Amino acid sequence: MSDGEFALIERHFRRPAGAGQEPVLLGIGDDCALLSVRPGMQLAVSSDMLVEGRHFFAGTDPVRLGHKALAVNLSDLAAMGARPLAFTLALSLPELDDAWLAGFSGGLHALAREHGCPLVGGDTTRGPLNICITVFGEVAVGQALRRDAARPGDDIWLSGRTGEARLALEMLLGQPWAQTVAEPHLSLLQQRLEAPQPRLALGQALAGIAHAAIDLSDGLVGDLGHILDRSGCGACLHADQLPVAPALATLPAEQRWSCLLAGGDDYELVVTAAPDQRELVMQAAVQSGTAVTRIGEITASRELVIMDGQGRPLPGRYGGYDHFR
Ligand code: ADP
Ligand code: MG
Repeated sequence: MSDGEFALIERHFRRPAGAGQEPVLLGIGDDCALLSVRPGMQLAVSSDMLVEGRHFFAGTDPVRLGHKALAVNLSDLAAMGARPLAFTLALSLPELDDAWLAGFSGGLHALAREHGCPLVGGDTTRGPLNICITVFGEVAVGQALRRDAARPGDDIWLSGRTGEARLALEMLLGQPWAQTVAEPHLSLLQQRLEAPQPRLALGQALAGIAHAAIDLSDGLVGDLGHILDRSGCGACLHADQLPVAPALATLPAEQRWSCLLAGGDDYELVVTAAPDQRELVMQAAVQSGTAVTRIGEITASRELVIMDGQGRPLPGRYGGYDHFR
């Protein structure tokens, strides 16, 4: 590493809090960080990469970018019911832009502090702007909310609501149908796209209560499909039960369904749980301050049926986003 890189890490990424504080035995500065894992707990590990031009626009507010880079990773821990312990950051930067780095690291550390998840290491190199974070979390042995654990008869629950991030994206891309959204909605929509809130408290409250969970990065239908594939089940989704944000309410039906069902970038949780756990699921929602809605059931068939309010199957396809398709 060069002097420039070292100074950059000292100034923007190293924080006094972290090292020596449970569970971090050793933080930034050595060849590896050292974390302690408590007895009876399992380590949950996940990485997500954000690439300029692919996951975010060039010129995105660096504070929000720092927030989002960590948020999408914390969302994966939430979807396992895990508690965050620490994270690492591999960063490729085109140039040493101090103001940009101050904003980026500010957004990153603010969310890290909020969730008690310190930055303990990483790597820094010159290249196209590319941000890769790996998070480490803990979950009690056997309590992780796995994608393969849904069972026929389970209720399907959704945290928060879907579609706003997608609508914001379509507006920024200049889609004509998205330009009719009223001015007062704009800043909230953009916040939903650029600064998602990982549902960590809900995920942890549901560990041991729910069966399966996934976080929504590619769209409700596509991501629910991953649970169904891994669990060998089908589902009936009641589209009319989906909460609709005010900004989506006035969209033409086709675009509204598309945002709600196949939006992407929602970072909400989809969770399955036995019907006799309804009270406990709702308690977990209250306890974590996160709204949840029952949106369907897991079935023994292998298909996903999406019903409208009249009990008719909804026309159209609402698959997820595949980078190589
Ligand atoms: P090594 O060559 O042994 O991998 P480096 O010189 O790359 O070590 O990094 C020195 C220290 O700085 C390490 O502790 C590493 O984890 C940390 N580090 C490097 N880049 C970052 C970064 N972007 N964020 C946080 N820590 C970093
Ligand atoms: Mg290195």
